[in-house]
Amino acid sequence: MTHTCNEPFGPLYQRPPSAPCPNCPCCTANLCEKGRNSVMQCHGQRLADSRMVALVASCPCSADTTRGTHAWRVAQTRAVKHATEQPLPKAAEWVLRALAGGESFEDPTEELHGLRARRYADGDENAWRITQLGRRYLLALEEPRYTSAVHVNSVDVKTRAAKVVVLGWHMEREVTVLADFLAQAVNVELPDLPGRYLDAKANLGAADPDDLVLTRIQMPAPITDDYVAVRPLGGAR
Ligand SMILES: [Zn+2]
Repeated sequence: MTHTCNEPFGPLYQRPPSAPCPNCPCCTANLCEKGRNSVMQCHGQRLADSRMVALVASCPCSADTTRGTHAWRVAQTRAVKHATEQPLPKAAEWVLRALAGGESFEDPTEELHGLRARRYADGDENAWRITQLGRRYLLALEEPRYTSAVHVNSVDVKTRAAKVVVLGWHMEREVTVLADFLAQAVNVELPDLPGRYLDAKANLGAADPDDLVLTRIQMPAPITDDYVAVRPLGGAR
């Protein structure tokens, strides 16, 4: 056997070796850099030793509860789409609201287990809590969402992140979104996204760009035949 057996926590499970991550006890800095920018998080990266999956499985650096990670963006989008497109039954929403308000409540239909499966609540019979994701779901039920033009400034194909400008929110500030969400919605390859205008629904009241969640992403409505027909006349004038 190699000496890796004696150093299960060492830097050998990720090659080439890199410095330990300053923000977690489990990973190299290199691994967390990849994990943050991947929906697969740290444990889904290519690890030299598969036994390390369990070790890095709960790495906070790439977790979907850590603001700014790819996994976090996926979770935010999932909660907002859930709230705006196919919301929870009223009984479950009522329980979640009671949790959010710190009120005592009964749960005759056992909604809490479903809420926990969705990661909107955690805990157990002794102490249930609403999660940040659960609060995001409730917020999404109420926050206004508007259609806005979205300009794709750039795409990092390696990290699959896109920098976009959501024109209804700010004319210049860039917003980071997952390029795959854009690409899949409009059926375009990642390298073909930059320079395009898309339409999307967004919570334009958000203060922080990371809190903007785009849904209903689509190509802008095509220019109608009428408009095309009028242009040559205008030009001939
Ligand atoms: Zn990590």
